[in-house]
Amino acid sequence: MLTNPLDSNPSFQLTASYGQFSKVETVGLAGIGVGFLALAVALFGAGTIAPIPLFAIFITGVAGGSLLFFKRYSARPAGIQNDNIFFSPNLWRGAVAWILGVILTGFYVLLYWFPGTMEHAIRIFDPLSWTLRDRPADQWLMYGTFYTLAVLIMGVRAIIKYRHIPYQIVRSVSVTFFQLVLAFIIPAILIRLNEPELYFSYFWPLDFDAIWPSKVSDLSSSGSIGTFFLFWAAALSFVATPILTYFFGKRWYCSWVCGCGGLAETAGDPYRHLSDKSLKAWKIERWMIHSVLVAIVVLTGLLWTNSVTEGAILGDFSSAFARTYGFAIGAVFSGVIGVGFYPLMGARVWCRFGCPMAAVLGIIQKYFSRFRITTNGGQCISCGNCSTYCEMGIDVRWYAQRGQNIVRASCVGCGICSAVCPRGVLKLENGPTDDRYNGPILIDRDSIGVLD
Ligand code: SF4
Ligand code: SF4
Repeated sequence: MLTNPLDSNPSFQLTASYGQFSKVETVGLAGIGVGFLALAVALFGAGTIAPIPLFAIFITGVAGGSLLFFKRYSARPAGIQNDNIFFSPNLWRGAVAWILGVILTGFYVLLYWFPGTMEHAIRIFDPLSWTLRDRPADQWLMYGTFYTLAVLIMGVRAIIKYRHIPYQIVRSVSVTFFQLVLAFIIPAILIRLNEPELYFSYFWPLDFDAIWPSKVSDLSSSGSIGTFFLFWAAALSFVATPILTYFFGKRWYCSWVCGCGGLAETAGDPYRHLSDKSLKAWKIERWMIHSVLVAIVVLTGLLWTNSVTEGAILGDFSSAFARTYGFAIGAVFSGVIGVGFYPLMGARVWCRFGCPMAAVLGIIQKYFSRFRITTNGGQCISCGNCSTYCEMGIDVRWYAQRGQNIVRASCVGCGICSAVCPRGVLKLENGPTDDRYNGPILIDRDSIGVLD
């Protein structure tokens, strides 16, 4: 019997129909569905009546179902497969992506402004909250559990998918560790100990009020852990950040530590190709991210000035400015848009267009760092995989074709461009700063006899 040789290699099945699942994958999907069904049942009232069974069904269904579904990745060749992406209703802004986008943005709106509507669902997290924090759950404990679960589950997926690249395995373990320990377990234990809820993996200006006068005053009077946090926050923002970025580029934070980056690299990985690669998007990115940075620097300066002068200089304005920043940037941009738009604009919308921490790291990376991506232009076949899967919208191929180093402020050093390159053209390196900007490699056309 004649068979189509392309059937044996899924990476060439550009025209195959989408959505064929094996039995194990179907069971996995059903498990995920049952998990979310339990959450929906809880939301409509049952959460208050039977929190423990519903919590157990939710966790088992979502985590167990996902792990079964991930058999899909272990059964395939390691790395990214291009098959079917442009036919997928989920991965190419189809109906599923829009529905997911509406659900995610809707969830954030309820979380920030109408948490009472989720009261029954929050109750199923009471047992976990009592265990960790010795108090009932609130919407933030529920949100933190969702967030951490997403990073853990999708972190496993990333490890399976990129199992052939040690850099990706270590990086995935790193982001899941920092999210689980520093952004979930330690803050919960601090609450249990009646200490302030502190997040040791977020620093100013991302944690925008970390060094505001009101917080400094609260923490300095709250005991030794609060005082330690102030030193930690100042040391990380003003000492460790420039030093680590000089040596390693912004990847040490954006792709290894930060919770926002952690979610993008794990839960957002299926959507990384949706980033806009146009020059217009690059221009908008530069204006937006640096405007947010200027806003938070000016705001922090104003608040300290008014703290010292007892509100003599624009006192009312600075407090209104602080409230507006918290609402527009801290809630709407980083949460509602930053995560809600994953299925439509890719996973790094916040990191690319809004995060002031990324702006600071980017400036240091571009002008004062040893980090660069080197390109072996002679090997490039212009397939475009690298540009397609760059979540920061960098047209990597443009540099690769010219043999030019990539020294871009926005590059988070995720390494996926290198991982998907079939020719080994791209290499993430830290080296001497002198020759980072090597420019395009120009060929002397006369010396090789090229006719115009
Ligand atoms: S250029 Fe490469 S390493 Fe940098 S963000 Fe894009 S895919 Fe990641
Ligand atoms: S650098 Fe690699 S992935 Fe990018 S276009 Fe060239 S061959 Fe393709």
